[in-house]
Amino acid sequence: MTVIDDLPIRDDLRGRTAYGAPQEPVRVSINVNENPYDVPAEVVERVLDRVRAALPGLNRYPDREFVELRKKLAEYLGHGLSADQIWAANGSNEVLQHLLQTFAGPGRSVMGFAPTYSMYPLLTAGVGSEWIAAERDADYELSAATAVAAIETHRPDVVIFCAPNNPTGTPVDLEIIKAAYEQTHGIVIVDEAYAEFQPDGTPSALELLPGRERLVVSRTMSKAFAYAGARLGYLAADPALCDALRLVRLPYHLSAITQAAAIGALDCTDIMLGQVDAIRVQRDRLLTEIPKLGFPVYRSSANFVTFHGITDPQAMFEEFYRRSILIRNNGLPGSLRVTAGTEAETTQFLDALAEIVREHPELRAGTETASTETASSETAGA
Ligand code: PMP
Repeated sequence: MTVIDDLPIRDDLRGRTAYGAPQEPVRVSINVNENPYDVPAEVVERVLDRVRAALPGLNRYPDREFVELRKKLAEYLGHGLSADQIWAANGSNEVLQHLLQTFAGPGRSVMGFAPTYSMYPLLTAGVGSEWIAAERDADYELSAATAVAAIETHRPDVVIFCAPNNPTGTPVDLEIIKAAYEQTHGIVIVDEAYAEFQPDGTPSALELLPGRERLVVSRTMSKAFAYAGARLGYLAADPALCDALRLVRLPYHLSAITQAAAIGALDCTDIMLGQVDAIRVQRDRLLTEIPKLGFPVYRSSANFVTFHGITDPQAMFEEFYRRSILIRNNGLPGSLRVTAGTEAETTQFLDALAEIVREHPELRAGTETASTETASSETAGA
């Protein structure tokens, strides 16, 4: 049987592992930070109207510049943004890919603060750039001094801040972004995939855009918007930066159906975001209840929580799986990550955790083990 390494594959891709969060038919699926609520029926109707209107025109290519969608996204983001400051693609993964294709590439480097989103190193490898995993402070926090020192040392062409960070949930203060921007001549990307789950009143890096033409804020409809299946990510930046991305995107990369489906959902923003509060309540419940079962948690302002103090994360992952609950083992030492689900799903997770600890007390580490954990630079979340 032929295997990948038998093929004349690029040397720099040899031996790499593809993104592969399991997709399994389980009772409780809380492993990829999705929104657990279906698209509400009234939004389905609205989207159907928009898609129906687009269907007869499918003999033609779609609007290559997705003007109406950009206007809608600018309106949603506010901050005085206009359509020419918006870019979109099939998920924010593709948005990030466009950014790296344009501003990284062979001979250049991309830096993030590990552990962070597992696609950053893969997207970096895909464009033939060097990935630099800079370190965080204790408990995966990040200070401006640490970020600035890493930029000073490595001088990357692109710096990515995941804010809040996946898989740890750690928020990133705007002061850090400002300090980093001052320190580099490269592009600074702030990936705000989980921004809407932060406490009300938390400022977005969108505030920092005026006067910073190398700053990019990336967002997605996949999480708070409950639209992961539609594949729509977007960014806000200087019009010139958005213009530059047109050099690398494939012609007509956003299908007319994708555009119509996104516009239909953006017609109903309030309804689409209607469950964010409920999800935040479940996130906070996880932050409070998991430590009561003997596992410390990292601070999180996203829709997931990473808990630690586990002697054998894979064994615990399998215990959950045996109970038809899918969570995430992303290789962080002594840790597992769980997404906030519905109230019922979160209850099932917490009940299962209590049961697992009762049956396997050896899975809970002593305090000493838990506090001496450190992250490896290649571990990450998805
Ligand atoms: N950024 C972060 C931090 C993520 O966690 C994810 C999804 N797991 C993405 C970007 C990509 O999401 P999408 O392509 O669905 O927009």
